[in-house]
Amino acid sequence: MADKIEGYLEIGTNDRGEVVLNLDRDRNGVGHIVFSPSQARGLADALNRKANEAEGHVCTGISATWCPIHGDCTCADREDLNDYDCPLHSSSSDHGD
Ligand SMILES: [Zn+2]
Ligand SMILES: [Zn+2]
Repeated sequence: MADKIEGYLEIGTNDRGEVVLNLDRDRNGVGHIVFSPSQARGLADALNRKANEAEGHVCTGISATWCPIHGDCTCADREDLNDYDCPLHSSSSDHGD
């Protein structure tokens, strides 16, 4: 698959310790979005999941400890599988939906 970027995208940092994403959607003006470092990492994770989805990967079952879209289970208790920050089993995860 060829690499493809439509439009203009530039990623940098500002002097407040934030990540800045500049985009020129329609050549009428530059928009920008400012992320905290943790939000930027969350975006990277979300992009990764969508890339896997776009390639046709599908979620493993809800009780799996690994998924091609969501990655590895980080639950400390492999019996309960309910850690709030687990990419597979947190309440905010869409894994297995
Ligand atoms: Zn988990
Ligand atoms: Zn999944």
